[in-house]
Amino acid sequence: MNGDSEDGKPKKLQYEGPDPDLAAMLERDVLETTPGVRWDDVAGLTEAKRLLEEAVVLPLWMPEYFQKLYNKKWWRVQNWKRMMELGDRGKGVLMFGPPGTGKTLLAKAVATECGTTFFNVSSATLASKWRGESERMVRCLFDLARAYAPSTIFIDEIDSLCNARGASGEHESSRRVKSELLVQVDGVSNSGTNEDGSRKIVMVLAATNFPWDIDEALRRRLEKRIYIPLPSFESRKELIRINLKTVEVAQDVDIDEVARRTEGYSGDDLTNVCRDASLNGMRRKIAGKTRDEIKSMPKDEISKDPVAMCDFEEALTKVQRSVSQSDIEKHEKWFQEFGSA
Ligand code: ADP
Repeated sequence: MNGDSEDGKPKKLQYEGPDPDLAAMLERDVLETTPGVRWDDVAGLTEAKRLLEEAVVLPLWMPEYFQKLYNKKWWRVQNWKRMMELGDRGKGVLMFGPPGTGKTLLAKAVATECGTTFFNVSSATLASKWRGESERMVRCLFDLARAYAPSTIFIDEIDSLCNARGASGEHESSRRVKSELLVQVDGVSNSGTNEDGSRKIVMVLAATNFPWDIDEALRRRLEKRIYIPLPSFESRKELIRINLKTVEVAQDVDIDEVARRTEGYSGDDLTNVCRDASLNGMRRKIAGKTRDEIKSMPKDEISKDPVAMCDFEEALTKVQRSVSQSDIEKHEKWFQEFGSA
């Protein structure tokens, strides 16, 4: 991976911007050189994966091809309407949907599949941690991403950094950070060249659970808007299988039945169901035992008890769905109006 030294650790690149301290802090807090998530770790979401491949993965793998495509007149003619709207090529991708549906996971899979350096930024944390300095932070983040190019910048909860509050009620500093972000996103398609003359590539991926709160100017720049919905029946089965990969499963576990009974659950809710069910075996083992007895139990005795259907029955009474019907309806409505197909 670009940015890695031979021993696999991120190599320190010479940061030439004006904020070395801030850059060092970002390197420490938001840089993940190897997120280690593959497409197969993400259950379902076939359409989202296809759109992400098209919008992010392929242009990174074949930049020359996409550049040539863009240079062709027929392509520009066919896509003139979209280009007029954007004023330029696509700048970034927005993933939206209810919480816990796999947006962060997908961003990590994109970075792993592309072999790019991954900057994982949570807007809410940044806004509170660097209050008043967020504007500098945004600039520094993009400088750093160019230094580590090819890179993917993932901005989670982008609505909290870039919401659509009316200009009058808006705080001056949040207006500044918003315009800095727009400037930087505008600049990513022109991030300069590497020493070998190839283009420096920086991809912007953003995620939100509240797409309707995003500022219109930013929304237009996030050209691809990909809906990440709740998992379907088939995806829930896949998700359960992924979650049970590392645990012993009893013969009586009926994955179809668990999937049927978890309609409306998010991927995160389902992960909690599986985790809770897996813990039940352990809880059974230690029930009624003293602390010392638990401590002296042989390790394999705890792990021997496979997770059974009764463990799922119990977990299902404890873990409820976390996403409301009205939230789903709001997302679907926004998807109809602004989403990419
Ligand atoms: P979001 O960013 O949409 O809020 P995350 O990607 O952080 O959600 O997902 C939270 C957790 O839920 C993940 O760490 C994973 O365990 C589980 N999860 C959610 N969706 C999926 C999915 N499609 N495939 C596999 N695991 C998932």
